[in-house]
Amino acid sequence: MLTGTTKNLGVMGWPIAHSLSPVLQNAAIAKAGLDYVYTSLPVRPEQLAEAVNGLRALQFRGWNVTIPHKSAIMPLLDVIDEDARIIGAVNTVVNDEGRLTGYNTDVTGFIQALLDQGFNPAGREVVLLGAGGAARAVVWGLIKAGAKVIHIGVRSPQKVQPLVDEFRPYGMLDVYHWESEPFQQLLGTAELLINTTPLGMTPHLDGMAPVDWSKVRASAFVYDIIYTPAETRFLREARLHGHATLNGEAMLAGQGAAAFQKWTGVQPDLALMKQKLRETLQ
Ligand code: NAP
Repeated sequence: MLTGTTKNLGVMGWPIAHSLSPVLQNAAIAKAGLDYVYTSLPVRPEQLAEAVNGLRALQFRGWNVTIPHKSAIMPLLDVIDEDARIIGAVNTVVNDEGRLTGYNTDVTGFIQALLDQGFNPAGREVVLLGAGGAARAVVWGLIKAGAKVIHIGVRSPQKVQPLVDEFRPYGMLDVYHWESEPFQQLLGTAELLINTTPLGMTPHLDGMAPVDWSKVRASAFVYDIIYTPAETRFLREARLHGHATLNGEAMLAGQGAAAFQKWTGVQPDLALMKQKLRETLQ
């Protein structure tokens, strides 16, 4: 029940009606028995500064940030956590009595999902397909987790070279055209193969980055950060070739769980959040 003491949370984006976060977060709030409510916050790009000041004035405890505000909000906050600074994007804001701190919990969501499957990237060779916005959190998460090397395959390597140069002080990474012979050879060394492209996402179910499964090491773990459909063509082909697989649902629920923990100090029921996510997507 909402009362005079209920604390406010939300998700800001434009558009925002599609966001799954209100369902996940309110389910977790109810399960934990906390006096919070989480709502969607439509914020036009040109009104971002007004919205941030408004939420501060209204004493919102915190909020998630999604497209198109993830980078634009950074100069409007008081403190930026290291992960968010390095990734260049904030997806969670915590309001401590008017002092706004920006975090990026996609990193936690991505890595925790892997660890929960029993795959620890420390010392492992990783091949990444695609290098857009989401890949920055993936790359940083892998570097933090101690991955030995990250080989990135994309359709336009020259476009991704600045990202490689930016992250090289922190870890070993390189970029190739994904149809080149050297990259195809690297598929054989990958212990972890990750898709970060939107290829195969609903409604374009036939899409897939070019992967010759006969070249992929039989024991490689295959991860697709897409969460709709639950099994992309990439994951289906991986499974049929005998690989252990993971989709993006746990990453999505995990970033929400990490944000919840920052706002409330309480560990939410992650299994419930995943279940709500799947039910809503279906
Ligand atoms: P993005 O910024 O558009 O970039 C995706 C990457 O895929 C880029 O390298 C891009 O290459 C490549 N790509 C896109 N379309 C392509 C095509 N038709 N052919 C070849 N390459 C293509 O996307 P994003 O924001 O990183 O998101 C990627 C996916 O991650 C989406 O499906 C999203 O739903 C998912 N995601 C999941 C979570 C989660 O929590 N599970 C979180 C965030 C995102 P170019 O630069 O050459 O276009």
